[in-house]
Amino acid sequence: MIEADNIISNILELTGRANLERIKSNVNLIASENVMSPLALKVYISDFMHRYAEGKPFKRYYQGTRYIDELEVLTSDLMARLAKAKRADLRPVSGTIANAAVFRVLADPGDRAAIAPVQAGAHVSHTKFGTLGALGIVQVDLPYNEDEMNVDVDNALKVIDSVKPKFVVLGGSVYLFPHPVKELSEAIHSIGGKLVYDAAHVLGLIIGGVWRNPFNHGADVITASTHKTFPGPQGGVILFNDEQLYKRVSKTIFPWFVSNHHLHRIPATAITAIEMELYGEDYARQIVDNARSLAEALAAQGFNVLGESKGYTQSHQVLVDVKKLGGGAKAASLLEEAGIIVNKNLLPWDPPEAVSDPSGLRLGTQEVTRWGMKRDEMAQIAEFFRDILIDGKSPREVKEKVIEFRKNFQEIHYCIDPKRYKVETLLDLLN
Ligand SMILES: *Cc1c(COP(=O)(O)O)cnc(C)c1O
Repeated sequence: MIEADNIISNILELTGRANLERIKSNVNLIASENVMSPLALKVYISDFMHRYAEGKPFKRYYQGTRYIDELEVLTSDLMARLAKAKRADLRPVSGTIANAAVFRVLADPGDRAAIAPVQAGAHVSHTKFGTLGALGIVQVDLPYNEDEMNVDVDNALKVIDSVKPKFVVLGGSVYLFPHPVKELSEAIHSIGGKLVYDAAHVLGLIIGGVWRNPFNHGADVITASTHKTFPGPQGGVILFNDEQLYKRVSKTIFPWFVSNHHLHRIPATAITAIEMELYGEDYARQIVDNARSLAEALAAQGFNVLGESKGYTQSHQVLVDVKKLGGGAKAASLLEEAGIIVNKNLLPWDPPEAVSDPSGLRLGTQEVTRWGMKRDEMAQIAEFFRDILIDGKSPREVKEKVIEFRKNFQEIHYCIDPKRYKVETLLDLLN
């Protein structure tokens, strides 16, 4: 009994501290994270988290699904409309599972797929080390252009023509500038293949209209996570503008890749979608403005920020080369001591072996934007970076200033005031 009490106290302590630090006092610059709105959070804790609904809405293999059927159709329609797609399927429980479902339908084991090179930001799921490899699909890298920090279009067209892949994957985890969807989709279509665009990072920017919508440039299908620049619950989505492909993929998600699809995500995703419809344009614009402001401010403080000749960034991300300042691993851990959370990252010229101590830091502005920060705050964050990484001030001292600074940004912006609705949560019902 005492044992259980101790363990429970420990669980509550760890969870409580994580909540407090990450929500109230850290400056979070992890480019793949975000926070849900209060209203989305309220509907997130629901009975749906206890249930199954195998199959498609209104054609389930389970009883008791009438409310999730209706909600899933409503949410899919909202997501499709926002992304200017014909169809959406929300059952993949993550972006990786969304990729798996699409890749598996487009290619058989032994077939080839051409992907953006890792230097251009490919995600591990696109590679032989990740989902693509697990499916037995052969990875062919498209060539890279260092000056453009992007896929080398001319040589990529040659690779597609000679290798004849079943599909091309663009979109990534570390990229400042849009990949060449139009050029490569024409090439892959001319040999009967498909273009998959992985918008895990940029879905919110696409919906907000500040990142080009891949469907307008010839993409056949978009896969994404629903929790990065799109600030919903952790989950995945596949967006289609090709009805045939939708039919082929959606009939395999269950049973190939999910059994239950974490149903409680669905109403929270719907709330997030509505909030993105209402506020997404302002939100997305501010995210990219902030990324550019942060890049400029860091450069002004003496940092080596990538992409200067191209205006630093068009996405929510900023890449900084900190090799001369002790490397990415050390820099990221010093910043963490000061309450600024970032991830170390390979830069285009780093060898793959450098993954545990790469030259770079990847920063994302989507979460600080959601806390209401703008240009001035980006300048302040850049000053903190300088204090810690260039001037060698003690991270503990800087941490006090970070906490003080963060006190003015305690409310989530670009969302509906939850007091406008009376929400009875599952917890209220049980108390
Ligand atoms: C984050 C990411 C994924 C994986 O998403 P999960 O939802 O974590 O599975 C897939 N593709 C890209 C490009 C990503 O950045």
